[in-house]
Amino acid sequence: MTSVYKIIAKSVRFASRLVGKKGTDLPGKVLRRINPNVLKEITKDFDEIVFVTGTNGKTTTSNLIGYTLRKADVKIVNNFEGANMLDGIISTFAIQTNKDTKLAIIEIDEGSIKRVMEYITPTKFVFNNFFRDQIDRFGEIDTLIESIVKQIKGKNIQLILNSDDPFVIRLDKYGVNNRYFGVNADAYQFKDSGITESKFCPSCSKELNYSHVHYSQMGIYACDNCDFKRIEPDYKVTFAKVNPLITISISNEEEFTTSQLGDFNIYNLLSAYATLDTVGLDKTKIIDGLSTYTSKNGRMQTIKTSEKTTNLLNLAKNPAGMNASLAIANSMDKSIEINYLLVLNDNGADGFDISWIWDTDFDILQGQNIKNIVCSGKRAKELALRLKYADIKANVFVNENITEAVAKLKTFDQEYNIVIPNYTALVETQKELESR
Ligand SMILES: [Zn+2]
Repeated sequence: MTSVYKIIAKSVRFASRLVGKKGTDLPGKVLRRINPNVLKEITKDFDEIVFVTGTNGKTTTSNLIGYTLRKADVKIVNNFEGANMLDGIISTFAIQTNKDTKLAIIEIDEGSIKRVMEYITPTKFVFNNFFRDQIDRFGEIDTLIESIVKQIKGKNIQLILNSDDPFVIRLDKYGVNNRYFGVNADAYQFKDSGITESKFCPSCSKELNYSHVHYSQMGIYACDNCDFKRIEPDYKVTFAKVNPLITISISNEEEFTTSQLGDFNIYNLLSAYATLDTVGLDKTKIIDGLSTYTSKNGRMQTIKTSEKTTNLLNLAKNPAGMNASLAIANSMDKSIEINYLLVLNDNGADGFDISWIWDTDFDILQGQNIKNIVCSGKRAKELALRLKYADIKANVFVNENITEAVAKLKTFDQEYNIVIPNYTALVETQKELESR
């Protein structure tokens, strides 16, 4: 029957893509019409189903795990397209399951856990974090956690939990043989520790006492009034640096450099490491995957153009995105010289008005050690003019032709290039960078 579901799912996806849809949810919806218990049926021969959830980072974590397993030739089902609700998960299983597939790594939306667990129970469940600001649509975190407890309680699920988040640790008593991950207090100083609102003990409601805060509610905490406290992790980040790629050491083992930018990814790497080790992948293969994974979508993607040079590609289509991209180099050693390629088009999908570049804070660049800046795309000249007003000390080149601009960039010999295209410039810029 599984193969019949696959044929149906693929046909529906094909038809759905013909009319310009992504085709990730519709196959699941159609299959559910045919058989309401389809998910239960397709997954019955799996040995291991791992759910990954959390407010932030679940897509990256799930992709890191999926990529690493595939690179190690393990056959898996993985919803890497981010189809993380019931129908998307059904589509993923229907399309990807083969006779010998025994392992699934499934990113799941926090709000969909109840619905999906009506049909399947994971063998392992990874909880990364719960942040209040972004889950308002589910009501209070307390309500969310209570509903998750109802789903996982008494079902013999092995939980893989972030020790540093007291919200996550509340789930501890509802799993079996749990594994824990966390960042040591002296391992890394997070850049944006944010304002820590008061966090209260889930057992006695007294305010928790933090001896160290990483950021937000992440840290080393204990309740002075009862025995609720952070659980000593099995997997600890003992050292990390961000320059601007993350280098990390887990449980004092050898450091490895990843292709991830942004220090919040330290937790995603750690969570992926803990999960991969728990499913039994050997350490060399784990590190091989975690050190080479990069996104493919132009968001914080890394592309090597030579043995020496890494290009950090990040789409920016508004001042906020541009400011974040221009700030990437702020975490780098000032001794490292870098180049920029900025690509600005004004095609329909970009909006014809590109005056937003005047609202972007190009002054950020003044503190960076920049050798060359190449401006490209249909509005290259305007970019160059904007740079002039920001008074940046670097060689500025203007070439509207993206192919030629990327070729120019490749003639430079620095370790890092930062490449920031806007929307319609992304695909071409990406393609030119990847071509040898
Ligand atoms: Zn307490």
